[in-house]
Amino acid sequence: MRTLLVADLHLSSDTPEINQGFYRYLEHTVPGADALYILGDLFDAWIGDDLLDANTHPLCGVAQEVIKHLRKLSSDGTAVYLMHGNRDFLLGERFINACQAFLLPDIEEVEIQGVPIVLLHGDSLCTRDEAYMAFRQQSRNPEWQAQMLALPLEQRVALAQSLRTQSGEANANKAEAIMDVTHQEVIHVMERHGVSTMIHGHTHRPHVHDLTVEDVPAKRYVLGDWDAQHGWDIVIERSDHTAPRLRQFSLTQLPDA
Ligand code: MN
Repeated sequence: MRTLLVADLHLSSDTPEINQGFYRYLEHTVPGADALYILGDLFDAWIGDDLLDANTHPLCGVAQEVIKHLRKLSSDGTAVYLMHGNRDFLLGERFINACQAFLLPDIEEVEIQGVPIVLLHGDSLCTRDEAYMAFRQQSRNPEWQAQMLALPLEQRVALAQSLRTQSGEANANKAEAIMDVTHQEVIHVMERHGVSTMIHGHTHRPHVHDLTVEDVPAKRYVLGDWDAQHGWDIVIERSDHTAPRLRQFSLTQLPDA
């Protein structure tokens, strides 16, 4: 009786070590789990599900391999849940269905192994980054997305590339604090959902934070981003003292469960 959560894999055709490490994680660590939650930025960029037809695009093979692994887990009884991140918000029904996964809304309140938890990617908590919040609002608009998806694939590839470069340059000039979550927003979301546990990724600042929400001790778990050497997950096991555990592990020495 255990559930696993990951985020910020940022898979691409330029990250062979992470891709292989993630496939091994799906083959070695996840089988037998009740559920796997992928809390956004599974891919470093996603430009539309028609990528799955573009055999010459280097990400197509990576995506097919991810689908194969997630579908196997799902067929073997592990429920697979996906959430959009700020990089892969165009992941659509076709990809989700191919994985036999479920798409979660941007903020989801769940009970995992008996623990009520609010899950989110985390970008929506970074409210001090006003430029990003404006882009977020625009990019989640269905009309904007439809316009994007109507562009030829090659044009979308180029656009995603320039957005990444722009965002990298912009972020390099932003104060550290602006790119982290806003404490008041965290409290607000937890109060609204009436939970004392939150799990998210996005900030690439893995940590377990203690806080107080409505006079009750609460915890905010931040998942880490994967790199060529290491991965991060959270495991929640049903036991007398169920508490989520944040883990970092070597991609060549994956946890057995
Ligand atoms: Mn992110």
